[in-house]
Amino acid sequence: MRFQEALQDGRILIADGAAGTLLQAAGLPAGMAPEEWNVLEPTKIEAMHRAYLEAGAQIILTNTFGGNRLKLARMKKESELERFNRAAVEIARRAAEPFGAWVAGDMGPTGELMVPLGSLTFDEARRAYAEQAGILADAGVDLLVIETMSDLEEARAAALGALEGADLPVVVTMSFDTRGRTMMGVTPEQLMETLWPLGLTAIGANCGRSLEENLEAFRRLREANPKARLWIKPNAGLPRLDGDRVVYDVTPAQFAEFALKFRAYGAQIIGGCCGSTPAHIAAVARALQSSAVPGSE
Ligand SMILES: [Zn+2]
Repeated sequence: MRFQEALQDGRILIADGAAGTLLQAAGLPAGMAPEEWNVLEPTKIEAMHRAYLEAGAQIILTNTFGGNRLKLARMKKESELERFNRAAVEIARRAAEPFGAWVAGDMGPTGELMVPLGSLTFDEARRAYAEQAGILADAGVDLLVIETMSDLEEARAAALGALEGADLPVVVTMSFDTRGRTMMGVTPEQLMETLWPLGLTAIGANCGRSLEENLEAFRRLREANPKARLWIKPNAGLPRLDGDRVVYDVTPAQFAEFALKFRAYGAQIIGGCCGSTPAHIAAVARALQSSAVPGSE
């Protein structure tokens, strides 16, 4: 079934959890572009995807979060852009096929500041996202997800770039990690007002801080537009340092409890961000199933 048909059914779909956390645990060297592992360690990326699929994820995100030209240029890897992105889609497709899951092409921030704070122009950003979207689409993803955005203009450039670079459903989510706003000061209401009218398939929040803060940002998105289709991939709570290790304390059971709260606010796609693991996603899948709203399935 095509992704958009599944959404029209009104079904709630489960997305995967954190990638960075798992890749670091699998030995990703500090300072290496995670996208480079798509060609160096494809079996490790595939194992990560499979772990989430076995946990119940119906949507997996390609390992291409930093796969735009501007971000790769910071790692001096822009000449590998096409190879890294194509390899990521091949790996994800191979993993998803037996499960009948959807593959979402993941796109993150450029890492550059837009003018006037920095030197990145709107058109330059839009072209970078259109380029990545075009490669991901050509390689065979089912949808595109622009996530962890903080700057509203960069998010708008990304959305427009993705919509013009590919003929696919596009999702945009921002990280509300600074007292109810993104680091760049964007409110949930501003995200909804500015980006939903562009023709997105879903909109929402990811990463952020605590589950409570994510729920509040999510509630505001819902209130800003009762009809928009909402996507949520929260962190498994706040990170803290244990020696030199970053740890997240939210248990799979607590995470699943919040999945039900997000559903009550109308979330149609629920997954996880930093700190969430296959165990968290499995708990979400069980909770959503065992408390299915009567008549909804
Ligand atoms: Zn995150």
